Amino acid sequence: MRLVVDLNRCQGYAQCAFLAPDVFAMHGDESLLYNPEAAAEQRENVARAVAACPVGAILLELTDEDMADMVSQDAVAGAGAGSGGSR
Ligand code: SF4
Repeated sequence: MRLVVDLNRCQGYAQCAFLAPDVFAMHGDESLLYNPEAAAEQRENVARAVAACPVGAILLELTDEDMADMVSQDAVAGAGAGSGGSR
């Protein structure tokens, strides 16, 4: 998983640092530090941060590995939930 924060857009609201503290951190009042190569286990937190950023400054690029991981997790979740599929 790779991520980029558009620092021109970022307003330092710190939602990301709150939701994914292992990936994002505020440095001072307005400057944001982040790990552009966040670990796969941070994916959910990062996804929450992306959704929560009020200015949409976080861009997430999923690798093939991430996609494969998600597909296998979905398959497990789908089987567990017993969803009936489409009507
Ligand atoms: S939530 Fe968005 S605006 Fe706020 S610090 Fe993070 S990237 Fe910047």
